[in-house]
Amino acid sequence: MITAITNARIFDGEKVIRATTVLIEGGQILSVGGDIPEHAVIIDAEGGTLLPGLIDAHVHTSVEGLRDALKFGVTTELEMMGGFTKSGRETQLKGLDDIADVRSAGMAVTPPGGHPDELMPGDGEIPDFVLKELEKMSEEDRNAMLAAHSHDHGEAPTVTSRDEALAFVGEQVSAGADYIKIMIEEGTVLAAPGLPVLSQDILRTAVEEAHRHHKIAIAHVLTAESARQAIEVGVEGLAHLFIDRPETTPDLVKWIAEAGAFVTPCLVLNSSIIGHPASELAKDPRVSSKLSPEWIDTLNASFNTYPQGSMDDNYRNVMDLHRAGVDILVGTDVSVPVPSLGGLAHGVSVHHEMQLLVEAGFTPIEALQSATSKTARRFGLNDRGHIVAGARADLVLVDGDPTVTISDTLSIREVWQRGIRK
Ligand SMILES: [Zn+2]
Repeated sequence: MITAITNARIFDGEKVIRATTVLIEGGQILSVGGDIPEHAVIIDAEGGTLLPGLIDAHVHTSVEGLRDALKFGVTTELEMMGGFTKSGRETQLKGLDDIADVRSAGMAVTPPGGHPDELMPGDGEIPDFVLKELEKMSEEDRNAMLAAHSHDHGEAPTVTSRDEALAFVGEQVSAGADYIKIMIEEGTVLAAPGLPVLSQDILRTAVEEAHRHHKIAIAHVLTAESARQAIEVGVEGLAHLFIDRPETTPDLVKWIAEAGAFVTPCLVLNSSIIGHPASELAKDPRVSSKLSPEWIDTLNASFNTYPQGSMDDNYRNVMDLHRAGVDILVGTDVSVPVPSLGGLAHGVSVHHEMQLLVEAGFTPIEALQSATSKTARRFGLNDRGHIVAGARADLVLVDGDPTVTISDTLSIREVWQRGIRK
């Protein structure tokens, strides 16, 4: 069966193209433009814009999270710490066809008691949001989740030496990690100053070991000083934008650009850390109609751990990086529906992040590139992020023209994943 999407404005991942037709067959894009076969099923996209499926380059996810993401046209989530490595996908996601695709770092390189320990409840107890999830699940899903929980919390692997760093990275790779994540977080902006951080020597060893396995390394950093440390040990990308703006920022920006590293700013997270809830979005019927009450409550809350920060500094930091030629990727750091981790929701926050990038000074087209083609290129996901013959048919049709008005991305009419209409 061939599906023909006709009369669409098409943003192909880079730009708006002249063609207005896309043919889909067997999960792939068969052609862009050209004649429509007689027997094709026609979807008239008049008044709409067709986009490649969106990619969130920073999440911590679950089956529910992946399901919500897909509702908002986010067809791929990239987990920066979590269980959905290749082996996790095989055991937990088999047969599910209403969820976004996912890649994962597995567990992150961090010392005992290091980030994200301060965000977790103590003593391995099961947090409230997990208990709520468990009530809704089938017995089989519940047992799988409890097993995953005791695995995550029973062993809680950490690193204290170069040898352990080597072993730890090797374990993530054996589990099918798609890239390696390292933590550089001393806690100040998360209201937990004095968190332990691994030495530069151990971090460098972890990054080199990732490279030996042909994996890219990505660092958690939230300050300019930790960003400097991350670039020094050779990572390919920063999973956050530094939230402060010291006098040394121009040098740091230059250095990040020269290193060729990408930055996933997660402005939505920094905004929440500074104390802003995402209440406008929570009120928007295009959002609220698709979210559970728990996620609406979460959107209406914020981290609020660094109220002295300023979004103007964040906007200036991200624009300085962008103008210096650094690849900026759309990511959110969305995780679980807990108000203390608020201001975020799966799928929704990708749209919010694009809006904040435009607020900072990106053109809408640049914001869309950062949620599609740029991310695919930096993560080697060569089968997606573009509307081109042969690519996965992960597509989003929205009303209006988000290449002019970025918030139109929320006016979702249809989502296709691997050619299947959702
Ligand atoms: Zn994260």
